[in-house]
Amino acid sequence: MMKTRDHAGRDRGFIIRRHKAPRAAIAAVASALDRGRRGSHPLRAAALTAAFVASPAAAQLDPPAWTRPTAPFPLVGPITYVGSEGLAAYLIRTDRGAILIDATMEENVPAIARNIVASGVRLRDVKLILVSHAHFDHVAGLAAMKRLTGATVVAGARDAQALRTGIPPGETNYGVIRFPPVAVGRAVRDGERVRLGRVSLRAVATPGHTPGCTTWAMKVTDRGRPLDVVFPCSVTVAGNRLVGNRRYPGIVADYRTSIARLAALPADVVLPGHPEMADVAGRRKAGTLVAPGLLREMAVKARDDFDRELAKQTRAAAEKAR
Ligand SMILES: [Zn+2]
Repeated sequence: MMKTRDHAGRDRGFIIRRHKAPRAAIAAVASALDRGRRGSHPLRAAALTAAFVASPAAAQLDPPAWTRPTAPFPLVGPITYVGSEGLAAYLIRTDRGAILIDATMEENVPAIARNIVASGVRLRDVKLILVSHAHFDHVAGLAAMKRLTGATVVAGARDAQALRTGIPPGETNYGVIRFPPVAVGRAVRDGERVRLGRVSLRAVATPGHTPGCTTWAMKVTDRGRPLDVVFPCSVTVAGNRLVGNRRYPGIVADYRTSIARLAALPADVVLPGHPEMADVAGRRKAGTLVAPGLLREMAVKARDDFDRELAKQTRAAAEKAR
C-alpha cells in the first residue's frame, strides 16, 4: 500500500545533478512579493510562478512529482497542504501568523509561496519554518523561503550544523547532495515545544534517517473533534550507510529507537514529508485522513524494511572484508 519513494532515484543508483534556481528568477519572485505586500491579489501569486517558469530545467532524475506543482488543499483543523505533488509542505494557521513545515526543493519555492497566498496567508505572516530533516528534498528551498517570508527556521539540534553548512549529515551510498545553507534560528531537542499564538508543536526526536530527524506532534480540533496530528520524520534507510558509518556511528541504534517511538506515538492523522507514504491526497479525497492505526502500520513496515536492508549491508560488508 505504501510506496517507499524517499530519495528513490538515488536508491536506484541514478546520478543526480543538482541545479540552482537562477538568481534573476529569485529576484523576480522577491519583486513580485514586494508588490504583493501592498495588498494580496491572486495575480501577485501568479507572478511568483511565472518568474520561475522561465528557469532552465537542468537534467534531473528525481521523481517528477517532486517538482510538480499542485493546488493547496485543507487537511484538518488549521492545517493546509501547500507542497508540490510529491514533497510535502504543511501550513498551520495560528492567531499570530502561520507555521510552515518543510520548504522542499528550491525550484518549488515559488509554487509553495503561491499556495500559501492562495490559502489566505500573506508570506510575511509565516513566522516559523519547522524542519523535518536536513536532506535536500526537504530543505533545499529553506533559504529562499526564509528570504521570502522572513521566518525563523527551527530544526532538530543534531541537524543544525548540516543546515548551516549546506552539507547533509552522515554517510550514504549515493555521495553528498548539497543544498543552500540556511541560518537556524532555533535548534530543538527532544520534548521541546515550539509555540506560535495558541498553537503548540512538540519536537519528538526520531534520529536515524538523519541525526536531527525531528517528528512534530500537535493537537488540533477539527469540527469539534480533538485529534493528535503527527508529522513523522522519515525512517526509511534510503541509501544511508548502516555499517561502518564513520560520520554517524550510532545510526543503527537510533533507527531502532525511533521506529519504536513512532509505533507508540498517539496519531489520529499522519502527515509525512513524502505524502504518498500516508496517501495524504487520496485520504483527504476519500475522507479517511483520520486513521488511528496508520502510523503504527507505517512503523512496522519501516522496521521490516530496515531489518532487510541492515542484513543486506552487513552481508555486503562481510563479503568485502573477505
Ligand atoms: Zn531524507
